[in-house]
Amino acid sequence: MATPPGRSAIALLRVSGPEARELVSQRIQRHTEWPNRQAFLARFLDREDQPLDQALITFFPGPASYTGEDLVELSCHGNPILVEGMVEALLQAGARLAEPGEFTLRAFLNGKMDLAQAEAVRDVVESRTAFQAKIAAQQLDGRLSRRLEPVKEQIVTTLCHMETALEFVEDEVNPEGRSRLGEKIEDADRQLKELEESFQLGRLVHEGIQVLITGRPNAGKSSVFNGLLLDERAIVTEIPGTTRDALTETIDLAGIPVRLVDTAGIREASDPVERLGVEKSLQYLREAGAVLFVVDQSIPFDREDLYIWEMIREYPCVLVVNKEDLPSRADIPNEVEKGCLATVRVSALEGTHFRELKAALLAVTTQGQEPGDEGVMVTNIRQKQCLERCRQHLRAGLEAYQGGMSEEFPLYDFRKALESLGQITGETTTEDILEQIFSTFCIGK
Ligand code: GDP
Repeated sequence: MATPPGRSAIALLRVSGPEARELVSQRIQRHTEWPNRQAFLARFLDREDQPLDQALITFFPGPASYTGEDLVELSCHGNPILVEGMVEALLQAGARLAEPGEFTLRAFLNGKMDLAQAEAVRDVVESRTAFQAKIAAQQLDGRLSRRLEPVKEQIVTTLCHMETALEFVEDEVNPEGRSRLGEKIEDADRQLKELEESFQLGRLVHEGIQVLITGRPNAGKSSVFNGLLLDERAIVTEIPGTTRDALTETIDLAGIPVRLVDTAGIREASDPVERLGVEKSLQYLREAGAVLFVVDQSIPFDREDLYIWEMIREYPCVLVVNKEDLPSRADIPNEVEKGCLATVRVSALEGTHFRELKAALLAVTTQGQEPGDEGVMVTNIRQKQCLERCRQHLRAGLEAYQGGMSEEFPLYDFRKALESLGQITGETTTEDILEQIFSTFCIGK
């Protein structure tokens, strides 16, 4: 089932496999014509052969279908009772429910897409910002796989040369040749390093970041929190925005989902209830990727501020000097200003300088990174790990090779490197890896 449960105008069911057409035929009122890739209307029958709903049916004969197999799509009215009735009737006719990601798994196994593209299908579905969706769509289009192609070729060429040298002793690569081949590998490694580094931003784009807003009571944390939300479209999440111990809301900051957390605050607490609140705040701090340190500049910076600073100083911080509309009385220690990656003066009350605050927050979270020229970005930890392994093997092989060891040693490493690279696109992927990947899909994809 491609549509999630619930009421909607239309629900879509998919049946894939060599018997898809035969199976659906049993459940619709006789229809002689089954045009290819052209929707036709038919009456769908329930388990008792009673008409259930009108369904719009489209038959995609394999291999030109999503899964590469014969595939039938049925659109019916999006009422859960009707949908359930149709599913039951199809099950009775011999279909079985798809596992999560099974349609895409079949597409992968039938060579309709590679593994990086299959993962992008999930990312497209799960995107929360327009930028995320764009990056996922590029991946789905095969951008990463295409980027890896020339690198792979470089490694393969080197492998071929070395294998020949190993087989025919008279073809032994001379020192000059050795250094040329070494350069090829170094170049491949450089290109992969660039991709690996893109993960820093890729991960942010993919997973977002948690930003803790902290400061002493009345510094203006909640006002800053609200100010940041004001003209941003908050991203709807399944996690409710309000919990007992914190307010959370996710905004789309230049395509990065930023989860803002406004907590009770961090301070020395003697009373046990309060201590519990502080403990919760510290928990949020541990999960945070950046911190907004809100300081009230209309009163002196005191030990309470300093206490908070000690707790957050290891984090990438933006110092938010709030209440700039009031006369300045805070003498913020140099150490604090220097320790923060950026300082922005705002008035949360009047809403001034929030644009600067957002720019500073963005710069701190991305650490000034921007997608590379070609915009190829690794957003997936599995792919990043494959790159890492590939580079380890490349470097080990290179060391052995340049150290003058016999070809078979570096050959082993370079083959391993190629294998790791192949795991990104799925050429060399084992069944358990596939199972792991596709189990994270939703049903119907
Ligand atoms: P929190 O306890 O840190 O969350 O602080 P709040 O956001 O609740 O603000 C505490 C008080 O300071 C409230 O009365 C706010 O209206 C006030 N306040 C917040 N920001 C500003 C500001 O920029 N200027 C002025 N004058 N007052 C502010």
